[in-house]
Amino acid sequence: MRVTIIGGGAAGCFAAVNLKRMAPQTDITVLEAGRKILAKVAITGGGRCNLTNTFEGISDLKEAYPRGDKLMRRLFNTFGPRETRSWFEKEGVRLVTMDEGCIFPASQDAMQIVRTLSNLMTRLGITVKTGCRVHEIRKEGSRFRIISNDGSDILTDQAAVMTGGGSSPFLSPLALGIVPPVPSLFTFNIGDEGLRKRMGLVVPVVSLGIPGTNFRSHGTLLITDWGISGPATLKLSSFAARYLNEMDYRSPLLIRWLGDMDLEDVRDLLESFRTEHARKLVSSAHPAQLPGRLWEYLIEKSGIREDKRWAETGTKGLNRLAETLFADPYRIEGRCAFKEEFVTCGGVALSEISYKTLECKKHPGLFFAGEALDIDAITGGFNLQAAWTTGYVVAKSLSESYGDGD
Ligand SMILES: Cc1cc2nc3c(=O)[nH]c(=O)nc-3n(C[C@H](O)[C@H](O)[C@H](O)COP(=O)(O)OP(=O)(O)OC[C@H]3O[C@@H](n4cnc5c(N)ncnc54)[C@H](O)[C@@H]3O)c2cc1C
Repeated sequence: MRVTIIGGGAAGCFAAVNLKRMAPQTDITVLEAGRKILAKVAITGGGRCNLTNTFEGISDLKEAYPRGDKLMRRLFNTFGPRETRSWFEKEGVRLVTMDEGCIFPASQDAMQIVRTLSNLMTRLGITVKTGCRVHEIRKEGSRFRIISNDGSDILTDQAAVMTGGGSSPFLSPLALGIVPPVPSLFTFNIGDEGLRKRMGLVVPVVSLGIPGTNFRSHGTLLITDWGISGPATLKLSSFAARYLNEMDYRSPLLIRWLGDMDLEDVRDLLESFRTEHARKLVSSAHPAQLPGRLWEYLIEKSGIREDKRWAETGTKGLNRLAETLFADPYRIEGRCAFKEEFVTCGGVALSEISYKTLECKKHPGLFFAGEALDIDAITGGFNLQAAWTTGYVVAKSLSESYGDGD
């Protein structure tokens, strides 16, 4: 049996290694457009490779996978984060868990993951062709003909497309539903000078929301010289990726500086602080866990002079301050890349594939995995987890489709 995997990234290499182990007789070829396989894995997590997550902080997979959560829930029964950890540990990669459940190799070196997979591919006798960009795939009877720009022409029994995010024009003749790719995971440009002047400040817990929509996020916020970044921003960019693309990355934004506290609670907090600290300056003593330089900006925005004492704030002043802390309005005026980490939302529509096997419904014998599918996640190791999971499931489906002896 001949299997051709298009794309030598995380999903493609993981699928190849697992398939060869499950069905050693399979003749596997991986076609990779770039000069090297696993080039993206080498730069993941800032070169440290956040390869999965404990998922402990995730109560619903939708929080991690804005697109593809139902499919991931099902596939995790076959190969989930626990299996990923033991898979790499069995290969001698010691792992460590860092903040927010992020799991890295203890070596803090993404090249260890690259070497582990590359060495296994060599040892198992998997053929790898680099510099080989596929530009055509067509059905010939029950097989597939795959033609690449280096002149190679392969007739294969089964094929798997694992070409990552972005568009794959060679899929057009197969008439598959494709959800148009748009970027996810970016930071926001905010025009507000007063905010940007506070660059470098970190606010431990805020809530962000886009008015008129259900897009909300929660977490740490980082103020930058162009606007805002940090986990809360990246999550919101992921949840609202398609909406913000449609809005040309221009939209109102509300920052709730005290997280999920409602307006009444914010007001109560300020009132009791005023009672207890009536003689203190508003600018220098406050009940919110906010950096001093940000607090100064928020009281200025609320029309409270810096020489005012708490006793002098009055009902109006206190209400204005409560409203600013509860829902401070800004405008998103564009997007910026996040440390070059770039994930695409969109890809082959999940309605085109079997949720059990990841085989294409219209073209049996053709499989999909990784970011080529319309699955993507927030940061934290969830995107690579999707690549390992879907790559493994494709390997299993392929091996079960023809057994070991073929
Ligand atoms: C800078 C950066 C940092 C990241 N850090 C993390 C992280 O720490 N944790 C995490 O979970 N996720 C991270 N991600 C996301 C993660 O890397 C991807 O989600 C993951 O690599 C997707 O795996 P994949 O196999 O689907 O695609 P890829 O790894 O992108 O592999 C696809 C491969 O297909 C090849 N290809 C494309 N078209 C063709 C063609 N026509 N013919 C032949 N080959 C083709 C490409 O050259 C590529 O090598 C990061 C992404 C970036 C860009």
